[in-house]
Amino acid sequence: MKETIQRVGILGGGQLGWMLGIAAHRLGFETVFLDPAAECPVDAWGDRIRAPFDDPEALQELADRCEVATFEFENVPSAAIELLSRRIPVRPGLRSLECTQDRLVEKRFLSHTGIPVPPNHDLTVPGDLDAAIERTGLPAMMKTRRMGYDGKGQARVASRADAEALMGEMSGPAILEGLVDFDYEASVLVVRSLDGEMKSWPPIANHHEGGILRCSRAPCSSLTTEAAQRMREMAMKVAHALEHVGVLAVEFFIRGDEILANEIAPRVHNSGHVTNEFSRTSQFENHIRAITGRPLGGTEGVHEVGLMFNGIGDHPARDSPSTKSWRRIDRDGEPSTDLRDGVPTWYDYRKAARAGRKLGHLTIVGERVDDESIRRMVDALPGAAPPPEAWEPNAQRSNAEA
Ligand code: AMP
Repeated sequence: MKETIQRVGILGGGQLGWMLGIAAHRLGFETVFLDPAAECPVDAWGDRIRAPFDDPEALQELADRCEVATFEFENVPSAAIELLSRRIPVRPGLRSLECTQDRLVEKRFLSHTGIPVPPNHDLTVPGDLDAAIERTGLPAMMKTRRMGYDGKGQARVASRADAEALMGEMSGPAILEGLVDFDYEASVLVVRSLDGEMKSWPPIANHHEGGILRCSRAPCSSLTTEAAQRMREMAMKVAHALEHVGVLAVEFFIRGDEILANEIAPRVHNSGHVTNEFSRTSQFENHIRAITGRPLGGTEGVHEVGLMFNGIGDHPARDSPSTKSWRRIDRDGEPSTDLRDGVPTWYDYRKAARAGRKLGHLTIVGERVDDESIRRMVDALPGAAPPPEAWEPNAQRSNAEA
């Protein structure tokens, strides 16, 4: 295998690939993307092989042109990663991918690793429904085992009849999971290097609407120091057990003192976008560092607070009084100025508007971000504004302590 790395292959040309590309270029690497879509956020970066992920010739070309490869999402066919791994190292590897492609395998892995998860039950065998309801109670969440993301492939069920009807509509095998009446949600990002060194970022508080992440706040100040440490240790345990190389994210539900893991993303994660401005080293840079064998950068926050809002469904107006002052980062990618100066920064993914689609995100960092600036930012984004408790630490704390 060739190991002097000049070019990094990235499966997936979406916004995560784009931001990985920016980080790779800053570290002096070139990138080659593989994605079958007609148009992709990474297209300004030029080098994209347009072909299905499991196209053997395309994978061959990627292997010929790159010395290492990674992926930006977990639904790449594992056969493609297996094929590519025979030619060049793919980081993280198949183990991380296969564990996280199937919710049942993932939940079993978490329990086996000693990490608490909501009660859940496999619905693959007909007749399992009663046993499942007995374990999870009602209401519950029914989730497809595979290909679920951004709230897709899951629905809440209130009764046995609901559950039975939904099972017939699900596109494949499913699980039933107890509905968690959480106080709030938070995630931990961790990076693991080739030689097993690990660093985690402080937990980030997340607010979802309709299963889609709407906003994130760093750090998650509602957590006690002890709880934050416990979550970071859990995330590191996951990365270690998977022998993961690169960044992974673990999403958690917090209910009082209880911390339950919901999901693992074996890749850079939407809740970590704020690390571009908030942290000493972003998730994107540390992922590229890890997979190319470079030393990891510090993960500590360099501001008191960082906020990220997703722009979903429609684009914000370009020239409204508040958006005019935003710094815009779009397809040319490389922000030429320092991003850490408290100016709202809009990352434009250059995607066509569509209901429920993430089109960009907005971040702001500071020693203190005053409510009025946040309200102006939130109001300038399309769609209903997220409720203040989503981004106000004090509202979250009182909720958690209630
Ligand atoms: P997932 O695709 O599993 O990450 O779920 C997306 C979002 O749906 C989560 O971040 C939660 O807001 C919500 N959700 C998923 N599972 C549950 C559950 N068992 N109880 C309560 N809310 C859930």
